Amino acid sequence: METITSDQQLTEAGYYWRELNGLRALVCLPLEQDGFVNGFSTRMGGVSSMPSDSLSLAGFHDDDAENILENRRRFLKLFPGQWSLAGCWQVHGADARVVSSVEDAKPAEDQLGETIYCDIIVSNADNVLAGVKTADCVPILIGDPRTRSFAAVHAGWRGTLATAVIEGVKRLSQEYGARPEGLRVAIGASAGSCCYEVGSEVIDAFSSRFPNGAKLFTPTRPGHALVDLIQANREQLESTGVKPERIHVAPLCTMCRTDLFFSYRQEKKLHGKVGRLMAVVGREQVTPR
Ligand SMILES: [Zn+2]
Repeated sequence: METITSDQQLTEAGYYWRELNGLRALVCLPLEQDGFVNGFSTRMGGVSSMPSDSLSLAGFHDDDAENILENRRRFLKLFPGQWSLAGCWQVHGADARVVSSVEDAKPAEDQLGETIYCDIIVSNADNVLAGVKTADCVPILIGDPRTRSFAAVHAGWRGTLATAVIEGVKRLSQEYGARPEGLRVAIGASAGSCCYEVGSEVIDAFSSRFPNGAKLFTPTRPGHALVDLIQANREQLESTGVKPERIHVAPLCTMCRTDLFFSYRQEKKLHGKVGRLMAVVGREQVTPR
């Protein structure tokens, strides 16, 4: 596996690999040092056949629920302590779910009881891991060391267009009094500007929605361009007052690195089904003295 060259880049970007029982996840060190357990999953170390031993953490239409749940159990073991997963049924929008206690934490997916439709989860509760699922979309984890509140945001091109990450910052501020300048942000692997080609409907939507929207695109063939969703989300975060040096981007593209990650765009056509990654964040558990 080609990880030796990228490990140096990863370290410089503020990330390291955590490994356990064949599982691997990317952890954002500055977010961890600010008091937040966090991790971005990879495809290794699970029970799904995508192909074999794959850690697909969602996508109930593409895999059996029992595989997904076993994979989730394995994934959560990477994080010492007792955790309940708070999720949602993602709809590529900018609505948020507030999780006020561990009792309130549930996957909230169609197949697992009550469904909650949203793309942002905010909380300041102990023992709660807020999780979003992706396969090429941008996973964003946010922590506020002062109020110890946190958020997980799912932003594909539609969510980015809907300024989901701005909404995430707003909700942390409204619910918990978090100030943007104190936030720490980790942006995980997603379809990068090296690979992610979109058509004119996406180009037009961004160009008309944002003054600098056209700058996010590098033309390829007529009516098509590569889009930089990381840059778009970075600009949105900075527009709220988040400090550039407190935003940490994992320098990995899901479409380039299908050895490490699931990529909807690369794999759906090839295999008909594709696994899902998960990004989680929660506040570090403080042992009472
Ligand atoms: Zn790429």
